[in-house]
Amino acid sequence: MTMSPGSFATSWRTHRAGALRAADIGTPVVLGGWVHRSRNLGGIVFVDLRDIDGIVQVSFGTDWASAEAIAAAAAVGVESVVVVEGTVVARAEGTRNPEMGTGDVEVRATAIRVVGPATTPAIPVARGRGEKLAAEELRLRHRYLDLRRADLQANLVLRHRLMQATRAFLSERGFLEIETPILTKPTPEGARDYLVPSRVHPGEFYALPQSPQIYKQLFMTCGLDRYFQIARCFRDEDLRADRQPEFTQIDIEASFVSQDDILALAEQLVAALWRTAGHDVTTPFPRMTYRDAMERFGCDRPDLRYGLEIADHTEAFRGTSFGIATAAIAAGGRVRGIVVPGGAAWSRKQVDEIEALAKSAGAAGLLRVRRVDGKLDGPLAKFFEGSDPFIGGAQPIAEGALALFVAGADRVSSPALDRVRQECAQRLGLIPEGEQRFLIVTDFPMFDRDPESGALAAVHHPFTSPQVDDMTAFPDAPDRWRANAYDVVLNGLELGGGSIRTHDPAVQSRMFALLGIGEKAEQERRFGFLLEALRAGAPPHGGIAFGVDRIAMLLAGATSLRDVIAFPKTTAARALFEDAPTQVPPEDLADLHLGLRAN
Ligand code: ASP
Repeated sequence: MTMSPGSFATSWRTHRAGALRAADIGTPVVLGGWVHRSRNLGGIVFVDLRDIDGIVQVSFGTDWASAEAIAAAAAVGVESVVVVEGTVVARAEGTRNPEMGTGDVEVRATAIRVVGPATTPAIPVARGRGEKLAAEELRLRHRYLDLRRADLQANLVLRHRLMQATRAFLSERGFLEIETPILTKPTPEGARDYLVPSRVHPGEFYALPQSPQIYKQLFMTCGLDRYFQIARCFRDEDLRADRQPEFTQIDIEASFVSQDDILALAEQLVAALWRTAGHDVTTPFPRMTYRDAMERFGCDRPDLRYGLEIADHTEAFRGTSFGIATAAIAAGGRVRGIVVPGGAAWSRKQVDEIEALAKSAGAAGLLRVRRVDGKLDGPLAKFFEGSDPFIGGAQPIAEGALALFVAGADRVSSPALDRVRQECAQRLGLIPEGEQRFLIVTDFPMFDRDPESGALAAVHHPFTSPQVDDMTAFPDAPDRWRANAYDVVLNGLELGGGSIRTHDPAVQSRMFALLGIGEKAEQERRFGFLLEALRAGAPPHGGIAFGVDRIAMLLAGATSLRDVIAFPKTTAARALFEDAPTQVPPEDLADLHLGLRAN
């Protein structure tokens, strides 16, 4: 038998078990699959046979099966792989199961053969109604069993469809899928590299790519003017919940494009991906500048499913005798805050909990005022006796509302109020599940200055182009330059980001110098291959990259990236099934010209 497209028939089986339907009634079938459950009711044995399409009930009864077949069916252990032969029949009236795809039929089997006997599974695959999953650590340790579950399989099927949709969408538009090296040179996306020692070149190392950034720009200098790759990227970052050390990006680059060209393509690609998962998406997405996002929401990827916007209340506090606020204002800071409708009813303890979050985000504390019976109430009220700036003003405090303020530099108040805003929305139940609010954030700053060392770092990456108008207006103040960089955001999560690149080698050299890579020799050592290619004739170009894992997680309705990755790492960056990382024998290290330090 040949493997014809559209049919799952092979030399071993005629159909996939889970795909049988009423239309197959009367068909003789040979099925291969896993024993999900079995029940021996005396005269009849039922085996639930599972494959990737679902589960079908297989029955062995005295009217149609031999005593040997019935005994063999009764003896088979769960999770064993069996091949059964039989005929599809209609289930008797009253025994149909509308919850199963195959629920109108069953297979009356005449033979069963165990082709892959199973040891007792370390974690259950079949679960009873309401029965919880085994602990995640155990499931990751026995991933080969966990991946037998229908919901994880469905996630991988969806992921596959998303990748196919990406390939179709981009190929139709003239993008070429080109692979880039995994053994490469450090790429400065801002994280630490995974290093790979070279055996044949003692003391030298490859790095695993943090992204194919430089390679994709090189393609543009070659005239391969539309590139994409579903690229594996590696970043050795500090451990954080739901971050994977290796992750997958849809990586895109194109030549002779502007920001609007890339963003239009990005919106259409996102719409195509969402459509693949059955959701309609309206394009274009709203745009917001980084500055507005920070001002109104305190973060560069605001969740627009709810309001609770931040407002500037500095004028209300200016001239009061409230030292914390006036000192912050005198130091060039502001008093910003959000007004929470109904928050006046929250207990002190509840507000203290919210304050703890603001503090963990860096604020010294939260200033609180509420309005009860028309009057301002709370420890700050006394500073506003005789005048009530919160009746009108930047953002009035209505009856029953609570205002929460942070005084200080925006660098402090923005992350704190972002955290407070999210928490208040949670507590008030303001977040409509199921709603999708896409947003494109533009005009990111080019650089971020470390407040302690004073050093500049690229906000996106060093190859992003600064906005020419800003460079001209503030030639000596790179802090004020905005970048031609953008992010695509959904419900407070970054889906992807990119930029228009610097294609002028002199400007690129200057960017390196501003980032502290001033020496020509050092620039050439680290980025010579890019600078050389830019000098050889480079077109204007730009691109974007999307996080496949996160997109798959959102579209699968999963809550963890680990649920959409076949073999994920734990939050401690360990692979539990394969048991990696792992120690290696000293002689292997010696081959690599390495030794371990005692401490
Ligand atoms: N390489 C960038 C990243 O991984 C994306 C881009 O600029 O295209 O974030």
